[in-house]
Amino acid sequence: AKEQGKNGFQFFTRDMNETIDRKSKLATGLRKGLEHGEFTIHYQPQISLQNEQIIGVEALLRWNHPEWGSISPAEFIPIAEETGSITKIGEFVLEEACRQNKYWQDLGLAPFRVAVNISARQFVQKDLTEVVSAILDKTGLDAQYLELELTETIIQNADTAIATMEELAALGVHLSIDDFGTGYSSLSYLKLFPIDSLKIDQHFTRNIKSDSKDAALVKTIIRMAHDLGLNVIAEGVETLEQLDFLKTEQCNQAQGYYFNRPLPAQEIEDIYYTIEPA
Ligand code: C2E
Ligand code: CA
Ligand code: CA
Ligand code: CA
Repeated sequence: AKEQGKNGFQFFTRDMNETIDRKSKLATGLRKGLEHGEFTIHYQPQISLQNEQIIGVEALLRWNHPEWGSISPAEFIPIAEETGSITKIGEFVLEEACRQNKYWQDLGLAPFRVAVNISARQFVQKDLTEVVSAILDKTGLDAQYLELELTETIIQNADTAIATMEELAALGVHLSIDDFGTGYSSLSYLKLFPIDSLKIDQHFTRNIKSDSKDAALVKTIIRMAHDLGLNVIAEGVETLEQLDFLKTEQCNQAQGYYFNRPLPAQEIEDIYYTIEPA
């Protein structure tokens, strides 16, 4: 550690050393984690506000390291993106989520979509469409039951992004823009992208009952999305008051702790597998 340096060069403080150590430990851990089966996926229901039926689940990655315990995706996903391991990990999530959804359908659950987060780094990999297509073939899941959640960060080059989205849309998968409203991209791309839905970021949802400006933004996003023919889903819904507001504003779907936390696959099955009455 350099924190005792007497030449005034104390740039590397103990804290920074610890942060860097932890980051490089996690980066190594991530590479091994896949082989060692340390990753699992939890699924969070997405609920129609018209009839309160499940219309989909979002696949959310979980990492449980044998020594370090469970590590938040908010911490490890950015490291996986930086180091490139997101490509392999992302493929794992796609395949596992499609396999799981097909399994649920074969079991007799009313079919719903599985939404998978695609990071910017994954999105710009050359063969993403081939990867997705091969996974759909391999798992037997119909493309309409897969949704890819993209964030505004994928737009490094608008023309390339549109071309990739068009290839993906041509497979028949649904596309949505995640964390909508938190990036800095121009609104004009909304008319160019072949997307089906916008996800309102949870930072807006959180304050709709306490901050009239956030409420105004949410109303405006919903209205604009509908005028553009897009579906709107609000994430981070935790209270009945938030839900009522969203229903009044004709938001289509919601996702959040008010309904369910992200759950292991088995629990999704227990909740939604109801045997038809004889
Ligand atoms: P995200 O895609 O915006 O996912 C929503 C996050 O909000 C999830 O956190 C979810 O557990 C949490 N959440 C859901 N409902 C509520 C609620 O009512 N209140 C609050 N406060 N939070 C709620 P999680 O699972 O920790 O994931 C964090 C982020 O990590 C995700 O944000 C996504 O950006 C990333 N991530 C997770 N799994 C994957 C993955 O498989 N691939 C990629 N590329 N990114 C992933
Ligand atoms: Ca997401
Ligand atoms: Ca479509
Ligand atoms: Ca989000």
